Amino acid sequence: MLDQLLEQVKQQQMFLEMLVRSWVDDYRADGGSIYCGKGCRNCCSLAVHTGFAEALAVARRLNEAQAEKVASYAVRLRDLVKNVSDLPQYLRLHRQMGFCPLLDDEGACSVYPVRPLTCRALISTRESVWCGADFSTLAPEEREAFLAGLDRKVVAFPSHYVATLQESGKELEEAAAQHMRLHFGFALYGNLGVLVHLIRKGLAEACQEGPAAAARFIAQAGFDNPLLLTGVPE
Ligand code: SF4
Repeated sequence: MLDQLLEQVKQQQMFLEMLVRSWVDDYRADGGSIYCGKGCRNCCSLAVHTGFAEALAVARRLNEAQAEKVASYAVRLRDLVKNVSDLPQYLRLHRQMGFCPLLDDEGACSVYPVRPLTCRALISTRESVWCGADFSTLAPEEREAFLAGLDRKVVAFPSHYVATLQESGKELEEAAAQHMRLHFGFALYGNLGVLVHLIRKGLAEACQEGPAAAARFIAQAGFDNPLLLTGVPE
């Protein structure tokens, strides 16, 4: 069952990869600029949320040193947002977490071949400095200049990321969630580091035992927080 989930998500990731390449080639051919490239890593400081199957693909690929980094990130985040109940505050606090624990020392993604759809779908029409910017701290004139420079035809305004590719990523994520629902009766979605950590600790086996076992596993590990994980069975 798990292998079927993995195979389906691999196909979806390859499909999105093709979509992204083709869209970027066309946009550049029309004179547009896309700034994503190796070593530009600022989007890896954003909170990455993904589906269970994609986290499973990442979890299966990690060595012990990577798994330890992910575990420490997950536990730190769990404790940091323990008493938080709203999304804006979660996102604000998440800034304290720094970069994704899967980013390597050279500033590259250490799980690039299996990086989630949400990472693949984030394509920037502005320089990478904007990908990690805290817009709440910008002066009004700086913010206005940024917004005025956006290509409104293609971005998910007011962000500088390409809208249609983000939408495609979301649709593919939803298809993966449907696939999990079909097999397990529920579909988990959540913070990448948290999901990967829990899978390394036995969440996939608990899911195979059934919804009650999965919910118990998550609660016992202290991650039953809807800001970290959604779709947890009641
Ligand atoms: S999984 Fe890779 S691409 Fe995605 S945020 Fe982490 S380091 Fe960046």
